[in-house]
Amino acid sequence: GTGWALAKRPVGMPEMDDFKTVNVSAPAPKEGEIQVRNSWMSVDPYMRGRMYDRESYVPPFQIGELLTGGAVGHVQASAHPDYSEGDLIVSMAGWRDVWTGKPQENMVNKVPQTGLPESALLGIAGMPGLTAYAGILRVADLKEGDTVFVSGAAGAVGSTVVQIAKIKNCTVIGSAGGSEKCNLVKELGADHVIDYKAHDSYEALLGALKKAAPKGIDVYFDNVGGDHLQAAIECARPMGRFAICGMISQYNATDVQPGPNNIIQVVGKQLTLKGFIVSTYADMQPQFLKDMATWIQNGDMKFEETVMEGIEMAPEAFLGLFQGRNKGKMLVKLA
Ligand code: NDP
Repeated sequence: GTGWALAKRPVGMPEMDDFKTVNVSAPAPKEGEIQVRNSWMSVDPYMRGRMYDRESYVPPFQIGELLTGGAVGHVQASAHPDYSEGDLIVSMAGWRDVWTGKPQENMVNKVPQTGLPESALLGIAGMPGLTAYAGILRVADLKEGDTVFVSGAAGAVGSTVVQIAKIKNCTVIGSAGGSEKCNLVKELGADHVIDYKAHDSYEALLGALKKAAPKGIDVYFDNVGGDHLQAAIECARPMGRFAICGMISQYNATDVQPGPNNIIQVVGKQLTLKGFIVSTYADMQPQFLKDMATWIQNGDMKFEETVMEGIEMAPEAFLGLFQGRNKGKMLVKLA
């Protein structure tokens, strides 16, 4: 089989030659192993963090070693008592088309019957979906009637946040890059959209947010950081809650980034800025899957996917995240 490794650590925006293909041997499974053919793999912004050689909540990728990440696959052969041929599984053995190994070393989970397409297990019904659900409902402590600002609103996490907030009868302002994405965010139910690329100074972005939320915002769900975060602080109402989910605008930065210059307002407005990592909220998984299934069935929750085909497209799909090439979840289709 074929897999991908880092050829070198990216500096700034990753480039194609930061990646190289490696051969993956996937022999018949030995005792306790399974052999899996991946059907889909995920590329996610957090992977950029693992490309730096630094301590974090997940260890760094090593040069020349297979990259890992979320994947869906089918068991082709099993020498493990809990798995049989044909089982559908999710694992962290992405960035390759086939593999053989121990389930527990590859964070394998059997898939609950959701009635959803396989790819949804990496998006709406998977890690990004739970991130949105836990982040907006618990971290931001969403209340009916809140005015909610969501950045990255056309992406996997952001588009889900927009819809959950609408289900909870909130007023939603979503920001995304470009009119096509803004139209999507509108279709998903947002009351107001901001094309941040058409407002490419802090003042312009702030002006657009003030216009969309003349009485201010109660909640900010941050996917991008930078000017968006500063504008959200500026527009926050007293006791506002911020779920700090990600700051993709800074993931490729090569120099020190400025903080929000108005952070002092956190005191006077008594704001809560709370960072979070989805894995901490694993207890919400069962309820998340139940709610999501209901919402999708009712037509209250839609999900968009951007699909690149073939294992050879994996780095390009990953780079695409930082170029805004995806609407909804960015995925690579394998078999
Ligand atoms: P997305 O599907 O949102 O894809 C990334 C999007 O980010 C792009 O499509 C692009 O949209 C936008 N983007 C890229 N560069 C910039 C920039 N410089 N400024 C503003 N926007 C930019 O990815 P996910 O939904 O998977 O992730 C969204 C966020 O959530 C990320 O910050 C990620 O790290 C975070 N996350 C955090 C988790 C946690 O546990 N805390 C778990 C999962 C995700 P556009 O065209 O609109 O610019």
